[in-house]
Amino acid sequence: MINILVVSERKDKCDYFNTLFNKNTYELSCLSDENLIFDLISADNPDIIIIDSQINNLKNLSKKIKSICNNTIIIFLVSSTKIEKELLKYANAFFTDDMSDDFVLSTINVNLRMKNSLEMLSNSNKDLADSLYRLNALYSTSSQFSGTLDKAKLIQYMIEGMDRALSFSLTCTLSFCTTNEPVLLLNSLYELSDELIEALKVRTVLNYNSLFEGKKPPFEINADSLKVIKQIKYPASRFTFSLFRFDNMFAPISLGENFFGCVEIFKESQFSPDDATCFQTIAQQVSLPLKSAALYQEIIEANSKLAKLERLKSEFISIVSHELRTPLTSIKNSLDILMSGRCGEMNESADKFLSMAMRNVQRLSGIINDLLDLSKIEAGKMDFHFAPTNINTVIDYVKSALSEVAKSKGLTIITEQQDCVPEITADAQRLEQVLTNLVSNAIKYTPENRTITISSKLINSKDIHINEYFKDSIHIADGDYVLVCVKDEGIGIEEKNLVHAFDKFAQIENSLSRKAGGTGLGLPIAKQLLEAHHGAIWCDSELNKGSEFYFVIPAAKALQLV
Ligand code: ADP
Repeated sequence: MINILVVSERKDKCDYFNTLFNKNTYELSCLSDENLIFDLISADNPDIIIIDSQINNLKNLSKKIKSICNNTIIIFLVSSTKIEKELLKYANAFFTDDMSDDFVLSTINVNLRMKNSLEMLSNSNKDLADSLYRLNALYSTSSQFSGTLDKAKLIQYMIEGMDRALSFSLTCTLSFCTTNEPVLLLNSLYELSDELIEALKVRTVLNYNSLFEGKKPPFEINADSLKVIKQIKYPASRFTFSLFRFDNMFAPISLGENFFGCVEIFKESQFSPDDATCFQTIAQQVSLPLKSAALYQEIIEANSKLAKLERLKSEFISIVSHELRTPLTSIKNSLDILMSGRCGEMNESADKFLSMAMRNVQRLSGIINDLLDLSKIEAGKMDFHFAPTNINTVIDYVKSALSEVAKSKGLTIITEQQDCVPEITADAQRLEQVLTNLVSNAIKYTPENRTITISSKLINSKDIHINEYFKDSIHIADGDYVLVCVKDEGIGIEEKNLVHAFDKFAQIENSLSRKAGGTGLGLPIAKQLLEAHHGAIWCDSELNKGSEFYFVIPAAKALQLV
């Protein structure tokens, strides 16, 4: 029914419209006293108001009507077609006294159609604005989700996101992530009575159990012992009505087998289908980061267990090596005395056995020293005596120390030293240890009658080329370095094993390593010693062709070292 209000003191005009408008389609009210107009407008909200221009104070009246009912069609009834300009602002159309009935009816129809179209447009604009707002809320909530792996924070962001997107009155979130025990989070606009909280607890437990339809739920929860955490937006006011007057939605917060809780949301007005989609989306969206957070927590726990085990292992190695060293020193001293002949002459075969015992004692003491070195470096307890050092002196020393052993295997050690290599700040003894290890390995893993080359040169960081197996794990700062290379023509290392050469206790499986023995500690110790010099070590190798072990140490003159 179309509601028309005619405001005129002229009875004939009221009668005219009364007869013109069909009672089945139009409901017409006539008013002669303009003072009553606003009471009528607020009661009836007419679609069309026809105002006689002879009425008092027409302009003000029209202005006020326009400001109250923006969508109402206002038509002025004027005596002539000459219309005062200012009136044009307030009217949608004008009727003159001599207009035909058809013209009046068609003007009314055109305006009604326009009004309907405008209303439809405004409604779809409102829907569009609502969707945009909701999308925005969803977007900002999902950005928040991606920013944390803290499970309690994720649940809190979920609730805040639902509030932004759906403006709820109350949410009940059963969370298994907020504390170590299941907890019911009540986020409410107003304070909740104890009875309402009890009712919500029971309801949540029932909802939760209903998710598992007779199967055993992942956690047993009981309404009596369920812990509650309240967050009240306006604590000064209190909910006074029953929950049955609220519309509600419920969703589990889970991903596959992983169950993180469930959430129920209440609102005084009805939720729309779009609200339901948005609610389900947020509950689903939070499940993925919650799963990542759970995995992350597992990794952290496993890592801390591993770190603890590693510490225990290092402590154990350190204690055992110390304990072994004392009796070994005493055995070595006794062997020294026996071999010196101070306890009487030994016959030839006794001498042979004593020498064999001595060789094994020396080997054992080498292993124990390696173990002690490694545990000291790892615990940061290794003492370094840094001083200006010439790398060529270190190379010469190691070459002469190992030449005899090399010769006994038919190997030649040659050096290619650059004369101008600058001094480095280093612990010369530790560098000797590194180089001795590399050259000993070269001797160990090279068949007879070949050559081992030790070279040194000054190099700038931009000219250092580290192969693909090591380049990700080694970072070389800009500057000048002293580069040392130990090159052999030995058995080489298979590509897949290259990176493992520097792992602790790594012994790469090959025919010689088994025969040659060893602990797999030499290279990791060398690596750690060089790192303490702000240097790095890596190797290139080709199976059955040979290996090149490189290390660099910064050439900076007064490098401050730890
Ligand atoms: P080890 O005491 O076993 O020699 P290292 O840590 O010095 O321990 O070396 C680790 C492993 O790397 C060795 O077992 C060996 O398989 C391989 N390796 C080291 N140096 C060479 C080399 N020059 N040629 C071939 N393989 C080598």
